[in-house]
Amino acid sequence: MKPSHIEHLGIAVKSLTESIPYYEKLLGTQCYNVEEVKDQHVKTAFFLIGQTKIELLESTDPEGPIGKFIEKKGEGIHHIAFAVENAIDALTEAGTMGLSLIDKVARKGAEGMNIGFLHPKSTHGVLIEFCSK
Ligand code: ZN
Repeated sequence: MKPSHIEHLGIAVKSLTESIPYYEKLLGTQCYNVEEVKDQHVKTAFFLIGQTKIELLESTDPEGPIGKFIEKKGEGIHHIAFAVENAIDALTEAGTMGLSLIDKVARKGAEGMNIGFLHPKSTHGVLIEFCSK
């Protein structure tokens, strides 16, 4: 499962309308994609810095994962995503290592990536995502 790089950092925000211009100024680059991921109840916005992306996440449903995260912890870093050769294999391997999985099988995330999450209780409190093309 050895990751090649950090594919993106996910940041939970209350409003893309407010945070996109802020990040465009901060990073000196334009947001290149805004996309809704319906099954996750989020709207995402992407910026590219080198080969790593910043993914802003706005909740579309207070009961969804980002809605609940913001209610509990407020805005901030939500997850770290590692680029792997094959997210399906990486999840299987993590499972055999005894790590607790949120996704036992990979599913489709933003930008058509195959993604899957490990549970933060088995990763020292960090929500970790594997993603592959
Ligand atoms: Zn992500």
